[in-house]
Amino acid sequence: MPATAFICPDGRNVLIQDCLTSCAMKQRCMFLPTLRAVAKSLDRGLRDPTVTELIAGIRETYLKKTVDYAVNPQDVLYALHGSALHTLHENHSEGNMLTEIRLTDEITSGKFDLYGEIMDQDTGVLGDIKVTSSYKIMKALGKYKVDVATGETYKTGLKKGEPKYKKEWRDDGNKGILDWAIQLNYYRILLEQQGLSVNKMVIQAMCRDNSLRIANERGISQAIYLIPVNRIGDSWVQRYMQYKARVLNTALETKTMPAICSVKERWHNRKCLDYCQVADHCPFGQQVKSNSGKPLQAVS
Ligand code: SF4
Ligand code: SF4
Repeated sequence: MPATAFICPDGRNVLIQDCLTSCAMKQRCMFLPTLRAVAKSLDRGLRDPTVTELIAGIRETYLKKTVDYAVNPQDVLYALHGSALHTLHENHSEGNMLTEIRLTDEITSGKFDLYGEIMDQDTGVLGDIKVTSSYKIMKALGKYKVDVATGETYKTGLKKGEPKYKKEWRDDGNKGILDWAIQLNYYRILLEQQGLSVNKMVIQAMCRDNSLRIANERGISQAIYLIPVNRIGDSWVQRYMQYKARVLNTALETKTMPAICSVKERWHNRKCLDYCQVADHCPFGQQVKSNSGKPLQAVS
């Protein structure tokens, strides 16, 4: 079940279809076509769980499929950036390439963004387009800062005689892209099941805050980064997705709330606090919110 209501600027919930018909306010909070586009982006009309839904926390996906929930249109505009970019690419994909085709197997379904001759002479490149934050790109690139001695020492003050250091960026840290890698590898498996070989997987990550100082402080200076994705063994990826699909389907059949999303899936509670659209329907999310990020006691 997709979101059924919008949260208005005054905090009231209004059914999406009522909002699109007429707004009770003196003036709409954004243009009507924008609201229509937001509404459309929220409902993809898919009943069975997709690759991206299975990669998310099972409790989050379960709640999104079973409860009526409300979203603030301001908070979901990022989805429009992504779909606008996808449409743009679809309109310019003439040549030896395929775009936006949904493939299905017995576990799930997934729609890849681009496949074919999209970067060089290689006809087997699987490309994925992401619009994301400088934080996520910094993590995905494995960037981190280290202290490097400048060779100078402090001449005065409390640190007199101590060596001076400056911060320098390194790019050889752990690449925090496991979710993206599982997603792309599953698309690869789906393509290969169709007899299409995938030689390379690449994410084109567009930074949505690249002109801001915060991006610069994270070592992100470009608007777009190409991030290669390694192959993960088919059996590992399939077992992982099979497991998540089984847990979700059992929860849906028995109408039982699944376990709390893992620490990684809930971004160490940051998602529960600010970004999970169904947090108000999740006892754990409610507790995290009422305690500003830290649950006081174990809640299931
Ligand atoms: S246009 Fe904005 S303020 Fe008006 S009903 Fe819709 S969400 Fe609420
Ligand atoms: S509030 Fe947190 S634990 Fe609950 S569904 Fe959302 S992300 Fe998962």
